[in-house]
Amino acid sequence: MIVMKFGGSSLECASAIEKVASIVKAHLDQRPVVVVSAMGKTTDGLLAAAEHASRGNSYLAWRQLGELRNFHIQETRRLLRSQAQVFIEHHVTPKFRELHVLVTSLAEGERQLTPELKDEILSYGERLSSEIVAAAFNRLGIRAAHLDACQMILTDNQFTHATPLYWETYAKLRRTLPYLGEGTVAVMGGFIGATEDGITTTLGRGGSDLTASIVGAGICADEIQIWTDVDGMLTCDPRVLDSGHRLRAISYREAEEMARLGAKVLHPATVAPAVRQRIPITIRNTRRPQIEGTQVVAKANGSNGTVKSIACKKGMTVVHLDVRHAGGLSSITDGLGNLFARHNIAVELVQARQAGVSFAVENSPLLPELLRKVDRSVQVRVEEERAVIGLVGEGVGSTPAVMSHALGALKGFDVRMHAQGSSLSTFSFAVPESELPAAVETLHREFFSSVDPEVFVAARDAVEVTSDAARQTRPFVLGSTRAVPAH
Ligand code: ADP
Ligand code: ASP
Ligand code: MG
Repeated sequence: MIVMKFGGSSLECASAIEKVASIVKAHLDQRPVVVVSAMGKTTDGLLAAAEHASRGNSYLAWRQLGELRNFHIQETRRLLRSQAQVFIEHHVTPKFRELHVLVTSLAEGERQLTPELKDEILSYGERLSSEIVAAAFNRLGIRAAHLDACQMILTDNQFTHATPLYWETYAKLRRTLPYLGEGTVAVMGGFIGATEDGITTTLGRGGSDLTASIVGAGICADEIQIWTDVDGMLTCDPRVLDSGHRLRAISYREAEEMARLGAKVLHPATVAPAVRQRIPITIRNTRRPQIEGTQVVAKANGSNGTVKSIACKKGMTVVHLDVRHAGGLSSITDGLGNLFARHNIAVELVQARQAGVSFAVENSPLLPELLRKVDRSVQVRVEEERAVIGLVGEGVGSTPAVMSHALGALKGFDVRMHAQGSSLSTFSFAVPESELPAAVETLHREFFSSVDPEVFVAARDAVEVTSDAARQTRPFVLGSTRAVPAH
């Protein structure tokens, strides 16, 4: 069996879902289980509705919900044609009625926007998309059964960033998925789960990738495919620089580090469940299924110390702690580390100095309050609007030549601190956010102006066709990133 996960950008409208169906059809012999995100930007829309309501602005909240409702109904009509009306009455309208009740109770001050209620509201994106996709598959000739992810994925009760209870979840998946019936494709929503008491939780933004990986590990899948809107893992974040090359393969560790350092294409927790069973993860482009994508495997090509990618993360704050009595330093940093972890604030970069320590943390409105808890004998300095850049590749953090090459190339940039990651697969540093695009461009020119074809597919060769599965799917016209069906 394989798992095929389709992200929001792969489900942004009826024709995108039809494309998804054609890709799934081409893999039916591998007995796929399909995991879907919410359609398009639905999760952002639900969050906006909840936030408007919590500020008492019921007009904006209802308008936002109305737009989402119209969008889901319109795309369902396009997908299900004559079967649409009955489906909408049974599956779409009732969910928006429930959402309306939740949002109204918030707007009228009967309820607060607790993390628990936020999860309840956000879960509707995947509840809707998974039922719509299952129905669309059946209309398009794929026998499909919808599975309620909240019945399958058990989690703890850390609402908005719940941790799966792996073994209980695996047991449930193993008891269910193999017995759905010959040729039946299970379709389930990603991102959502429930506590043992049945209260809805979410795995954190971007968490559908993690659902795919849990399902893959649960059923001991042969492969976990992450279908998205880019050709695979690229040598840089395309939102910052669009001339990145595709990586043919990367190691689990490299993928994990890239995800942690901002490569949104994979949720950082996705890799761990797959590693234990050595299940390959493949990242592929729904719009260009003829491209084989990037494989995430135990060992990838490329010698130790090769920079595979430049990851980056905006919205960071650099904090410097200067300690007069160095003896207290470790207990202070441990204490702060625990505080940040408790509030789910990621710490990306830690650099010890003789008289203190510096680190980069994600921006958070809680930061000033947390830093006020630091002992008075410690001087705290904060630099806002920073970005962290990480060079990622096995052994990069223990290869002095790479580090000096990077720092030499960035002369003239305001590079404030740098550190090797504990896995020695990263070398990271902070720059002002305003310098990020130029710094990434400079580094990309330095490290990727000529690339080893065994490891990378150069951007200019990006339309290379290699996949057998792709040849079985409907042809696409190539040329732009947004390829359109040929007929
Ligand atoms: P999905 O909706 O399929 O889950 P996401 O938006 O979560 O898609 O992830 C895909 C996006 O990840 C890409 O559109 C791209 O902008 C971003 N991304 C960041 N870094 C990288 C990278 N190194 N390689 C590929 N994509 C990246
Ligand atoms: N729909 C969720 C989000 O937008 C989960 C996901 O797409 O992976 O964060
Ligand atoms: Mg995603």
